[in-house]
Amino acid sequence: MLNGAQNAPLLAGLEAGGTKFNCVLARDTNTILARARFPTEKPERTLAEVLAFFREESARLDPLGAMGIASFGPVDNNPASRDYGRILNTPKRDWSQVDLMSWFRENLGIPVRLDTDVNGAALAEQRLGAARGIDNFVYVTVGTGIGAGIVMSGQLINGFTHTEIGHMRMSRDKERDPFPGCCPFHGDCLEGLACGPALEQRWQRPGAELPQSHPAWELQADYLAQMCTNLTFCYMPERIILGGGVMQNDFLFPMIRERVQQLLNGYGPPAALANPDAYIVPPALGGESGQMGALLLAQQQLEGNPTVVRGAQAAG
Ligand code: ADP
Ligand code: ZN
Repeated sequence: MLNGAQNAPLLAGLEAGGTKFNCVLARDTNTILARARFPTEKPERTLAEVLAFFREESARLDPLGAMGIASFGPVDNNPASRDYGRILNTPKRDWSQVDLMSWFRENLGIPVRLDTDVNGAALAEQRLGAARGIDNFVYVTVGTGIGAGIVMSGQLINGFTHTEIGHMRMSRDKERDPFPGCCPFHGDCLEGLACGPALEQRWQRPGAELPQSHPAWELQADYLAQMCTNLTFCYMPERIILGGGVMQNDFLFPMIRERVQQLLNGYGPPAALANPDAYIVPPALGGESGQMGALLLAQQQLEGNPTVVRGAQAAG
């Protein structure tokens, strides 16, 4: 665990989201010394604001030791790659090919470690939150986009690069839901049907303004239950954590759990069948998982450890 020594080096944490950039400055995850939030606008503007914040705060407090970035994807999160830390081709306007890693490493002059926002959140939930003591779980964000950090046998799964579960196919009844989906690549993939912008475009109102009785939520729960069922069969996890702006509607949890049980129909891992309430859960760190993950990435960079989940806990 991070310890809170007064003289521990300062860590910069950045959660780079499709809607907002959350910045935190800390010596450990228990004591946040400064915070800031900037909307995701044109890269030049948002990146300059984030840089100015970290520069000003470190001038006030202490020099920075390392930075961690938990970023929206697609992003190159492979440290061995030439493009490590670069945002790849994204539907998010102006952000394709933005090199987050070089911008902060060169301007702050400190080591930087970057992973996806959901891998960061998974790391934080495993170390500090809803997946403590659990070696096999999935953290999903349902926000501007949909993505997952997958931990199997205590390790984050990355393959060649991060997974793209947001683009899995859904079974859709076009009479019930004529909305064609908003994914610029696939239309009605999971993200196209169930991310925050899909809710807003389908119903002509932001999700946060849709009352609990609105038919939007039955549909939303159905798509997210299909996602949880597919994740269950692919990974057989012990727990699925659902975070992100859309999941702030906590009434969705019982709706999703019930539908997942119908879809599993008695076939699935014991964790899912025996105790549905503990199988699909909100993040224990609430909206903080990504930021805390960014701090943990900074800490692991400073210590020279590879990005690890279970190994880091055992060592600390
Ligand atoms: P980011 O994607 O930047 O990490 P969020 O996870 O907060 O940020 O996701 C933002 C998306 O979630 C937006 O599309 C927003 O409309 C939607 N959203 C935020 N809060 C809610 C809510 N309470 N209910 C439904 N949708 C929400
Ligand atoms: Zn898609």
